[in-house]
Amino acid sequence: MAWFKREIKGIITTTEEKKETPDGIWNKCPQCKKPLHYSEQVENQYVCHYCGFHLRIGSKEYFSVLFDDNEFTELFPNMVSGDPLNFTDTKKYSERLVETQFKTGLKDAIRAAVGKIDGQDIVIACMDFTFIGGSMGSVVGEKIARSIDYSIEHNIPFLMISKSGGARMMEAAFSLMQMAKTSAKLALLSQAKIPYISLLTDPTTGGVTASYAMLGDINIAEPGALIGFAGPRVIKETIKKDLPKGFQTAEFVQEHGFLDFIVDRREMKAELAAFLRMMKN
Ligand SMILES: [Zn+2]
Repeated sequence: MAWFKREIKGIITTTEEKKETPDGIWNKCPQCKKPLHYSEQVENQYVCHYCGFHLRIGSKEYFSVLFDDNEFTELFPNMVSGDPLNFTDTKKYSERLVETQFKTGLKDAIRAAVGKIDGQDIVIACMDFTFIGGSMGSVVGEKIARSIDYSIEHNIPFLMISKSGGARMMEAAFSLMQMAKTSAKLALLSQAKIPYISLLTDPTTGGVTASYAMLGDINIAEPGALIGFAGPRVIKETIKKDLPKGFQTAEFVQEHGFLDFIVDRREMKAELAAFLRMMKN
């Protein structure tokens, strides 16, 4: 009966000291529904190794996939959005910002950094969808503009990784102005003959597609990414016609001439390095 008695005293672990499996160590692939262990995801650049589905990741993961040894210097890390319109929807915009910053650990829907890809200098600005749907507010626009200034000043190619639901409604016209501002800055980059690569990831829509995401010297996308301006339902209701199969996927968009390449994330770094080398010569 000794089996059922705790004979050794003092092995009581307090709740705080109990080790639990951290959340999110197993994820289900949204496409094939197979379980993916976190270490497998990291190893495969966050691509499902069963079906090739590209999991939705943020700037932290993209930086780790692309920068040599995950080494980079973050640019303008402390920029935060104001609330110029004193906007309230279901809650105050100023409160929503603070809450989202706390929840995501991000300051806004974009991070910029300078580092190296395969030994070559690069400035990368990468959007984060977890921050209010990757919406393009004034901080997103301003960080892109300043990253481009940095690229021009130091003669370093610029890579933009887009992932966005479009304009940030809570900043209304201030948000829309970012389209003109970033496009104008990209024209200056082009005048300085510095390469601009645009990488469109799932999803890239709205004002982001209508400005900087489509202005690359090379526009590339990840497989299966949703790329469009208005959503399919709105278009269907407007034109009163059924939409073709695969509408607004990266593959469809490429077939219709808006993208140069679709690149698997596992080959992304090597491809980008090759583009950079090619454009330098
Ligand atoms: Zn899968």
